[in-house]
Formats: sequence, C-alpha cells, structure tokens
Amino acid sequence: MEGAALPGRLIWRSARVVEIIEETPRVRTLLLDCPDWPGHLAGQHVDVRLTAEDGYQAERSYSIASAPADEVLALTVERIDDGEVSPYLVGELRVGDEMELRGPIGGYFVWSKMRGGPLLLLAGGSGIVPLRCIMRQHAAVMSDAPVKLLYSVRSQGEIIYRNELDQFARNGVEVIYTLTREWPPEWTGYHRRIDGDMLREIAWPASDRPLAYVCGPTAFVERAASELVALEYEPDRIKTERFGPTNDSTIVDRSARDNTSPIT
Ligand SMILES: Cc1cc2nc3c(=O)[nH]c(=O)nc-3n(C[C@H](O)[C@H](O)[C@H](O)COP(=O)(O)OP(=O)(O)OC[C@H]3O[C@@H](n4cnc5c(N)ncnc54)[C@H](O)[C@@H]3O)c2cc1C
Repeated sequence: MEGAALPGRLIWRSARVVEIIEETPRVRTLLLDCPDWPGHLAGQHVDVRLTAEDGYQAERSYSIASAPADEVLALTVERIDDGEVSPYLVGELRVGDEMELRGPIGGYFVWSKMRGGPLLLLAGGSGIVPLRCIMRQHAAVMSDAPVKLLYSVRSQGEIIYRNELDQFARNGVEVIYTLTREWPPEWTGYHRRIDGDMLREIAWPASDRPLAYVCGPTAFVERAASELVALEYEPDRIKTERFGPTNDSTIVDRSARDNTSPIT
C-alpha cells in the first residue's frame, strides 16, 4: 500500500471497535473496523471525534499504530489522568462501540522505503506509536536500512508493545531503553532522561546522513531534536511529532457541554 493515502480525503468516517488490547495499565490498543478506510502511510495520524448524547463533541489526534498493509486499523491510546478524551478511550470504550475518524493526516512524519535510512527512532512514552508503525512497515517492505530505536519510558511496566519490540530486536533492530522513574536493581541499561551523552553513544554518526524520527511529549521531542542538531544531524532529516498538551482549537462546541452527559 505504499503510495496510498493521497490528500483530499478528509471526511469523517465511522469506525467500530472490534477488539481491545490492554498494552499496559494505562495504555490500550483499539482495533477498528473502518469499512471505507482509504489506506495510510507509516507515520500518519487520524483525528478522532466523539459525540455525547447532548451533541457535545471532542476531537483529538491519534497516530496510526497499524502498518499500511495490516488488515485492521489500530490506534494506541495512553490515559492522561486529567484528560477529557483519553480516559474515555482507555477506560470506557467497549468492543462494538463506534467513533468517527478523519484521515489519514500528515505527510511530514512519514517513512517509506524510498526514504531509506539509516533510521534513528526516538520515542518518549506513547510516542512509540507511529514509530511502531514505521518499524512494521520497514519489516513489511524488507528495507535494508539499519534501524536503532531509543525508547524513553518511566518504568519497565510502561513499555508499550514490549513483545513486539523484542521481536524487532531479534530481527536486527537495535532496541535501547532508558527508564526515567523506576528501574529494578539488576537493570544495566540507561536510567535517566535522554541527553546529549546518551545520544552521542547511541546515534548513528551524522556522516552517515541518518534519518531521525522523534516522537513523544513536547519537552522530550525538543530536547532530543536539539541534541541531534548538536550532533550535526541535518535539520531537515530530523522529523518530529509532539504529543503535547491539546490546543483549544481541537475542542469543538465546548459551550454545548452538559457535564452530566458522558461522551459516547
Ligand atoms: C499528531 C498527534 C498524534 C498523537 N498520537 C497519539 C497517540 O498515538 N497516542 C496517544 O495516547 N496520544 C496521542 N496524541 C495525544 C492526543 O491527541 C491527546 O492530546 C491525548 O490523548 C490527551 O487528550 P485528553 O483529551 O485525554 O487530554 P486533554 O483534556 O486534552 O488534556 C488534559 C491535560 O493533559 C495535558 N496533556 C494533554 N495531552 C498530553 C500528553 N500527550 N501528555 C501529557 N499531558 C498531556 C493537557 O495539557 C491538560 O493539562 C497525539 C497528538 C498529536 C498532536
């Protein structure tokens, strides 16, 4: 499906939840049946729209977790405790429920075989989602571009897609974790936030003209990207996606909100 997902298809489509995978206590993957799905590229996202019984609507963006050739579209959502939408998607949504999707969206944070590598993937928390899609696509198209993933996560228990990342590692991807809050006594890996020394040890040399994809909370992305620039990575080969706080413009029709009406 490389080359699919042309622009100009931004209509709302109905999607039904067909399966829910509990990834970690705070993270779920939603497998969706979206009959008219036009296809997507690795790294793109969708807008999700939820509508409450009183007409109140909320929209948020979610990266597409499934690879372009996968049979079922997947989103992976982390619960933000004081959030409006994610606690519903992670805690209340059930198999059979419907939501609306608009997309695929984005042409910048996209990887395809012809973009090559070497690939340096830097993920913070749920920022692993589009990078998992890219790694799946990398495997599906049998790219020979070498891949390194550095994944910053609070604790081992919060690693999303752990088994699949182990599988990628067995198949040649270099997977490196850094744990930022808790680590077991026997942990020999990194246990701090990402920094320049860590990237100097891990990153492909700039002379290899690596292609970097950095995704996660805003502070993580900004730190990682500036460290890569300091390592003389070419700025236009550093692709960033920020999952930071929601911009008010993504909340529609807030005035219609009746606090007693749950989003359904
Ligand atoms: C292109 C794009 C792709 C995204 N893909 C994913 C994805 O694959 N999986 C995923 O779980 N999220 C993803 N997000 C984040 C997602 O859009 C929402 O921002 C997130 O789910 C929180 O929404 P909420 O309604 O629960 O919180 P809100 O009600 O919007 O915010 C509640 C509070 O949490 C803060 N906050 C909002 N988002 C975050 C965050 N990500 N981290 C920390 N604090 C936050 C806000 O500032 C506010 O204080 C993506 C965002 C973008 C822009």
